[in-house]
Amino acid sequence: MPDTALTDLQTRLSDEIAARRDDLTALTQDLIRIPTLNPPGENYREICDFLDRRLLRSGFHTELIRAEGSPGDSEKYPRWNIVARREGNRPGECVHFNSHIDVVDVGKGWTTDPFGGEVKDGKVYGRGACDMKGGLAASIVAAEAFLAVVPDWQGAIEISGTADEESGGFGGVAYLAEKGHFERVDHVIIPEPLNVDRICLGHRGVWWAEIETHGEIAHGSMPFLGDCAVRHMGAVLHEMEETLFPALARKRTDMPVVPEGARQSTLNINSLHGGQAEIAKDSTGLPSPVVPDSARMVIDRRFLIEEDIDEVQGEIRDVLERVRANRENFAYDIREMHRVLPTMTDRQAPVVTTVEAAIRKTLSKDPDFVVSPGTYDQKHIDRIGKLKNCIAYGPGILDLAHKPDEYVGIDDMVASAQVMALSLLSLLGPPQTP
Ligand SMILES: [Zn+2]
Repeated sequence: MPDTALTDLQTRLSDEIAARRDDLTALTQDLIRIPTLNPPGENYREICDFLDRRLLRSGFHTELIRAEGSPGDSEKYPRWNIVARREGNRPGECVHFNSHIDVVDVGKGWTTDPFGGEVKDGKVYGRGACDMKGGLAASIVAAEAFLAVVPDWQGAIEISGTADEESGGFGGVAYLAEKGHFERVDHVIIPEPLNVDRICLGHRGVWWAEIETHGEIAHGSMPFLGDCAVRHMGAVLHEMEETLFPALARKRTDMPVVPEGARQSTLNINSLHGGQAEIAKDSTGLPSPVVPDSARMVIDRRFLIEEDIDEVQGEIRDVLERVRANRENFAYDIREMHRVLPTMTDRQAPVVTTVEAAIRKTLSKDPDFVVSPGTYDQKHIDRIGKLKNCIAYGPGILDLAHKPDEYVGIDDMVASAQVMALSLLSLLGPPQTP
């Protein structure tokens, strides 16, 4: 296809999406109005049925897949996913848009109905508007507009709505990846809310572990007859403050993580429990006097592509061993709970350069390349699906995710849908002739 024909097609595609602005808005509202709270994982089947009807109408072949036996899957809260696929006129590459269908708890502080999908000042409000039902809607409208404007195309388009991203994605993308789903896929775009002019290449790694210190139970009036596990844990925290936190702050990364503060190794003390269970706030009873014989701490360590998981674990073990060397009767256990390795797609990978060019065309500016501080479903596509050609790109504003009065801008949704459609055109459209 000559240059002028291509420019013409690009313009018609962008115009087509602008003309579908109200449809895009209405689709986002409809998706928000299906409350897919996770936990516990409500209405997954309902939203999959809704997407099924929509995508069947657009000529997709659809499949509803329940992740049976995955964490959280039950008869009451089945983990449903939808995968829709439409083939082009000739064999070619497959572009896959993956969105999670779940949203997090509403929380306090809303001035709009979290499941109302209210439109105000060019924004759609509701839980999941930005993270990420607006992105899901944009990818659907992008594909539909592409199908309407470009009759001659090759390869395949896939759109998936998957469960449980907010709780690790094991009943969603991980399940599909384990079943080999991504073997037939060449390019993945995840419309997470990373801002309309940014391409997210990947994420830092995460290592969760539980540290337990041991003591000996005794009457609280005679603590010298026991051994206080909480004091032992205090020594661990002290050692972390003295040596570990400063060392982590010195480890900087070349990954373009946003926000800037996360461009280093970090550690969060996620929880700390020692001794008997806390008494309820409304209880009038008193605790019984005992020396705690156990204290447990959950740590959330985020690490960099420059770091090795063995090094990350070794640092924590070194802290504990230093305490042991200086402290009588110090005994501990450490248990890994969860690990995800860092991932970062190559800056020159085809999906990256394609979306980059489409952003330039649509927004007349160069995109920023970023890395997410926390993980998202790209981890499963990379590690289980063995597919490196994957990015996150979508319309929402990252800082609004999980907040009260979450919204997505309609202009941003339109622009990101245009970027997605132009990307489809360059990956699956008619071949260009020089
Ligand atoms: Zn999300």
